[in-house]
Amino acid sequence: MDNIRNIGFIGIGNMGTPMAGQLARKGFNLTVYDRQAATANAFAREHGARVARSAAEVGAGADVVIFMLPSDQVVRQVLFDDGLATQLAPGSIAIDMGTSAPAVTRSISAELAALGIGYLDAPVMGGVVFAQDASLDIMVSGDDASIERCRPLFDAMGRKLWPCGDIGSAHVLKAMTNYINACALINTLEAMTIGRKFGLDSKVMAEAIDVMCNGRQHPVVKKIIPHVLTQKFGTGMAMQLIAKDVKIAVDSAHSVGAAVPLGEATEQLWRAACEQIGGSRDHSEIVKYWETASGVQL
Ligand code: NAD
Repeated sequence: MDNIRNIGFIGIGNMGTPMAGQLARKGFNLTVYDRQAATANAFAREHGARVARSAAEVGAGADVVIFMLPSDQVVRQVLFDDGLATQLAPGSIAIDMGTSAPAVTRSISAELAALGIGYLDAPVMGGVVFAQDASLDIMVSGDDASIERCRPLFDAMGRKLWPCGDIGSAHVLKAMTNYINACALINTLEAMTIGRKFGLDSKVMAEAIDVMCNGRQHPVVKKIIPHVLTQKFGTGMAMQLIAKDVKIAVDSAHSVGAAVPLGEATEQLWRAACEQIGGSRDHSEIVKYWETASGVQL
């Protein structure tokens, strides 16, 4: 860690506290800043870190500055309105580890590059509990040399580094993984409330869903990797059969007065895909519906 000894950390909140704590524990020289001074002071007392009085002050002498802030607007504000960018030395690196919009990340990167300052996006998957035991999954993008230079920091905070490509790509992946998880949560709650209307026990359903929809049954594992990405399209189940099952779920919901907005949209999508691609085709070929609509191939 020779060339990245002095670390600035801005945003000592729910995630930043345990993440910066891991860096302190592993011997990095930490300067922290949070708009709520009491939070930063409490952290510094516990971990023996230095507290800066402003975001700009964090920049002086820092090899790397990490942001764990609420949004990309705040990252931009700290860098360019609060004066941090003017204090960072050429050759230093700033890292946004929060969840930000990739377009903003790319524009910040270009502005910092003009000042000779490197930029990485390194958002994390896993919440506070994962941060507390340094088992975060860290997606990272930007130039390879900067990533390698910062690897000891990522190793201190996470269990695995997921290199994603050009700057902003990690923020894309982070948003997509949370998008998938957010949809799956609604989807599962919708299905379980329909089940409850029919009198099923919630715990019985949750345990069955865990086995029948997760792990080796999850669509990524069972369909996307072996059949879509290989273009084998050989799951052995026709599109019209899945379309029928979704229709059964939606009709059942209607029959008992359960709310099923996601199901209704899903039923329409499967019906449209059957018409466009052919109901007798393998159901994994539904990918072609999106490929056609978006003009890209998986
Ligand atoms: P948080 O609100 O707990 O912490 C943010 C901290 O930033 C606060 O302490 C706040 O005082 C500080 N702050 C706000 N504006 C500031 C400014 N202008 N200057 C200095 N400090 C400022 O949020 P969090 O839960 O730690 O999340 C941080 C980021 O991590 C977000 O982008 C979030 O989407 C992402 N994230 C959160 C979780 C989670 O489980 N909480 C998980 C993964 C990713």
